[in-house]
Amino acid sequence: MPVAPHGEVTGHDARIRRIVVVGGGSAGWMAAATLATYLGRGSSVRLVESEEIGIVGVGEASVPHLKTFNGEVLGIDEAEFLTATQGTFKLGIEFRDWGRIGDAYMHGFGRIGRSMGPLPFHQFWLKRFLAGHAPGIGAYTLQTVAAPQGRFTVGGSDASAGSPLADFAYAYHFDAGRYARFLRTLAERRGATRTEGRIVDVVRRAADGFVEAVVLESGERIEGDLFIDCSGFRALLIGQALEIDYVDWRQWLPCDRAMAVPSANAGPPTPYTRATARAAGWQWRIPLQHRTGNGYVYASEHLSDDEAAATLLAHLDGEALAEPRALRFTTGMRREFWSANVVALGLASGFMEPLESTSIYLVQSGLQRLLGLFPDLGFEPQLARRYNADTTFEYERIRDFLVLHYHATARDDSPFWTHCRTMPVPEALRETITMFQRDGRYFRHGDDFFALPSWVQVMLGQGIVPAGYHPVVDEMPEAHLDAFLARVREDIARAAAAMPTHQQFIDRYCKAPPA
Ligand SMILES: Cc1cc2nc3c(=O)[nH]c(=O)nc-3n(C[C@H](O)[C@H](O)[C@H](O)COP(=O)(O)OP(=O)(O)OC[C@H]3O[C@@H](n4cnc5c(N)ncnc54)[C@H](O)[C@@H]3O)c2cc1C
Repeated sequence: MPVAPHGEVTGHDARIRRIVVVGGGSAGWMAAATLATYLGRGSSVRLVESEEIGIVGVGEASVPHLKTFNGEVLGIDEAEFLTATQGTFKLGIEFRDWGRIGDAYMHGFGRIGRSMGPLPFHQFWLKRFLAGHAPGIGAYTLQTVAAPQGRFTVGGSDASAGSPLADFAYAYHFDAGRYARFLRTLAERRGATRTEGRIVDVVRRAADGFVEAVVLESGERIEGDLFIDCSGFRALLIGQALEIDYVDWRQWLPCDRAMAVPSANAGPPTPYTRATARAAGWQWRIPLQHRTGNGYVYASEHLSDDEAAATLLAHLDGEALAEPRALRFTTGMRREFWSANVVALGLASGFMEPLESTSIYLVQSGLQRLLGLFPDLGFEPQLARRYNADTTFEYERIRDFLVLHYHATARDDSPFWTHCRTMPVPEALRETITMFQRDGRYFRHGDDFFALPSWVQVMLGQGIVPAGYHPVVDEMPEAHLDAFLARVREDIARAAAAMPTHQQFIDRYCKAPPA
């Protein structure tokens, strides 16, 4: 295909025929599976990975959108996926010791309460809560009531519109390595091919700098029209070859290391992730069917690797199944995610740390955006500009939500928390906090990934209690208000009590063979 400088196509068929995916971690196989499913008839999808280099192998908690990606985008059967990946269900994240030592709250998926007229539910609750007549907001979300009880079920199509089970949101915990293998099987079945080998060179076209080929250690040259860089932190194409720089966010998200270790299960798996704040960061606990994933995410400026490993090992529920493994990262994102004929996904595109399990979602969202803006060989620059603008917006809003967890704290027991509490935060976040502090108002910014229930739960959980509430709430007689709140709470309590335990549900629905 003759292509002029700057990607101007001179031939008649401008369709992209050769897609090369660099890297075979979750991002690479998610990309290969998606592209083979939607473009595989007209284009070849070839994935190159190096077993010797391996994958990052963490990334085991998700957000509810993965259900759509697996089910609707890829047509994967949910039970089959969970069985293959030793997966469990996730109703949210329990945060311990974040606002203050001894605090605990749950950021649950799904909606809070029941909407009434023009106001979000939490405004009605706020009036009675501030007066000391209502319990914490956690009593009004089914996920945050069911999770601590260890209960789970799926809503099912028979859940009526008013039922707390209607549109019941949940996510998954799964074994990252198994997920990549599961997707590999699916992608190969749909026509993607895999090449084993270490890439040692990236060849660019002299005329416009577009990537022409990657070269393997064996000397094999793999040419492509479009390259998807899923090479992880190495960022072989977007970073090393195209030299797109990295926007460093450590001034807001100061953790730059993680120590990870699997442990034996000490009981039935909880239907939620736990994130416990520690002196220089936080520790995750992700329950799978065959083991529990654990990690301490910390700031190397405040803690040594040895101290992190010792703290992690001292706070496991069950026996450690391996030596702790250290991972290094820099929180931030690429200044451009799509440059020339390279689109970066996964860790090659940025990493904001795993606090709200958003990385795999960002791969999914990048793929959906790429499909919508899919170019031809002309690589119309407007497509990349749009892709980059929308992706940047998504990253920055997720960043602010993560920063909220660190910043809105009363903790002053370590230099790390004092730094987080007193650091200047991005302006949009400052405005969001100020508005909420006044009278509990929250306004979503555009297509901000995290919606009102997430912001409200986390702001309250971190100790931001509004001084007042929306004036419209006073229009409702107090007796009606109390009856409304009580009804919502009772419906939720009843729905939670009727659920099977998480373990019973797994046994029935997706029990995996022993690992
Ligand atoms: C501590 C930590 C915890 C995390 N927790 C979560 C979580 O709970 N939820 C979540 O959504 N995300 C989480 N993530 C992020 C998640 O792990 C990644 O987004 C996801 O696994 C995708 O990784 P990847 O495919 O981009 O990179 P990788 O898994 O690192 O894959 C990179 C691939 O590139 C290949 N490669 C690299 N260089 C070459 C070369 N020269 N030649 C050939 N092949 C090459 C490698 O072989 C590999 O196949 C976490 C990340 C970290 C660091």
